[in-house]
Amino acid sequence: MARVFNFSAGPATLPQAVVQRVKEELQDWQGCGLSVMEMSHRGKEFTEIAAKAENDIRNILQIPDSYRVLFLQGGASAQFAMVPLNLLANRRIASYVCTGSWSEKAINEAKRFCDINIVANSANCDHQGIPDVAQWSYDSDSAYLHYTSNETIGGVEFPFIPESNGIPLVSDMSSNIFSRSLDVNKFGLIYAGAQKNMGIAGITLVIVRDDLLQEPRGDIPSTFDYRKHAANNSMFNTPPTFNWYVMGLVFDWIREIGGLEVMERLNQEKADTLYQAIDSSSFYSNPVMPAYRSRMNVPFILADTGLDSKFLLEARVSGMVELKGHRSVGGMRASIYNAMPMDGVNVLVEFMQEFERRYG
Ligand code: PMP
Repeated sequence: MARVFNFSAGPATLPQAVVQRVKEELQDWQGCGLSVMEMSHRGKEFTEIAAKAENDIRNILQIPDSYRVLFLQGGASAQFAMVPLNLLANRRIASYVCTGSWSEKAINEAKRFCDINIVANSANCDHQGIPDVAQWSYDSDSAYLHYTSNETIGGVEFPFIPESNGIPLVSDMSSNIFSRSLDVNKFGLIYAGAQKNMGIAGITLVIVRDDLLQEPRGDIPSTFDYRKHAANNSMFNTPPTFNWYVMGLVFDWIREIGGLEVMERLNQEKADTLYQAIDSSSFYSNPVMPAYRSRMNVPFILADTGLDSKFLLEARVSGMVELKGHRSVGGMRASIYNAMPMDGVNVLVEFMQEFERRYG
């Protein structure tokens, strides 16, 4: 069967070139007679693969030497706990900006470990934007300030890096990391699951400034302790080796595309095309305030929700899958991460227009 356009929010579509390379190297990685899946994580070959991926990340994001790059397990969800467990040190308060479902999940997990100061909350506008920064209420006793740079479900994205007033800034970038240039210097810690813009599920990237790797609370489980992972080059225990390798292939692809500046331009073009199609129709709509619309996840609803299943079925027949909105919000959602080609967006827009002509 021909490959379909996969609009899944994650695990998401991979660059075709990456899938092809995995296929070519699967049985025998670069002539060493075994697959990456079978290699010892401490062997020469895998050590090379691991170091290469870290170097790629450092180069692409221009990460200063004062930051550690960690490859962990447990998904971004584990980071919801690891961030407070590691960064609170002797403080009792952490600050969070709440812009939707994933912020809420991060907040609810952190509440188990500390008091939470909500800096700003977009709940009163149904999480359809980002509260005016002039109104944010900072708490200088906070160990860190956390925000979700892209809300994967609501389709709300920060178009700016928020001011943290000297408090270490922490960001969940699971669904928009590597989608545009980034000034890592502004952050204390960045984390992201791989399964959207970096590869496959099962590996999580953490970029953390050295000075934040202080003594964590005494009862922290060893596998949750950043310092232990940092001291062991993320090989404190067996890492998800294959996932780490696939990440490296995705970075090769990003470099071949031309790096983050080109990626950013392509992502903007795709998003503009899709939002323009939605806005120019009375059949489709997106509720998010234009300034905060996500370039990665585009939720939209049909004027007649009775047509939802027909839309999904016909999209499937036309070679497009995973357009169903998140179960908590319904409607549709097109995730158009880095690996979604412009062609995929064009095919979707043509399909949407044709569907509207027939049923609108
Ligand atoms: N944060 C964001 C922004 C996400 O989109 C997701 C997953 N969709 C998560 C956290 C949770 O990631 P995981 O399932 O890998 O734990």
